[in-house]
Amino acid sequence: MKIVLATKNKGKLKEFNQMCKSKVVPFTELLGDIEIVEDGDSFKENALIKARAIFEKLGDKYIVISDDSGISVPALGGEPNIYSARYAGENASDKDNLNKLIDNLKAKGVKKTPAYYTASIAIVSRYGEYSVHGWMYGEVIDTPIGDNGFGYDPIFIPYGFDKTLGELDDNIKKSISHRSKALKLAKPIIEMLSGNIS
Ligand code: IMP
Repeated sequence: MKIVLATKNKGKLKEFNQMCKSKVVPFTELLGDIEIVEDGDSFKENALIKARAIFEKLGDKYIVISDDSGISVPALGGEPNIYSARYAGENASDKDNLNKLIDNLKAKGVKKTPAYYTASIAIVSRYGEYSVHGWMYGEVIDTPIGDNGFGYDPIFIPYGFDKTLGELDDNIKKSISHRSKALKLAKPIIEMLSGNIS
């Protein structure tokens, strides 16, 4: 069975291809650039919505994988959560979203507070639907430091470290990240469904 990833993000495609024995292709190669409305109220629901939409269009010879992720800050009522990619508006850049989070921390007089990243991976195939999750816990600060990573990484200090993900090496992030943890759980499911292991 062919494995299709419900994303246009090249970084995510690379990560999945490194992990899977079979080649993973982006849905755009088969369906072109279709728009999927992510109107779920959780990371899990949004990942499933994307995977189901592509699976329904492609048919049951395919295994469709998708992921949804973001950061949550309890001191801000859990924001931005599932709205992480569009916190500062529909077409906001990563930088706009980061600045909005910093502004909201400052507005509350919060210099440092607990936060966590969530990654949900959905796998949809003729054998049913699967969801796995990974989390990374730490704190956010009100001043960005470092250029590594992306998104909210310059203000996120993982527990066990005294530097932001913007300062830490990419390999360190890979070893502790929410996405890596979810990918590790997804791997045996994908291999089982694609017939690489029984
Ligand atoms: P998605 O592509 O819909 O999953 O949106 C993920 C959004 O959450 C991104 O735009 C980032 O703002 C944020 N995000 C998710 N994972 C990370 C991460 O590892 N570092 C920084 N930001 C992240």
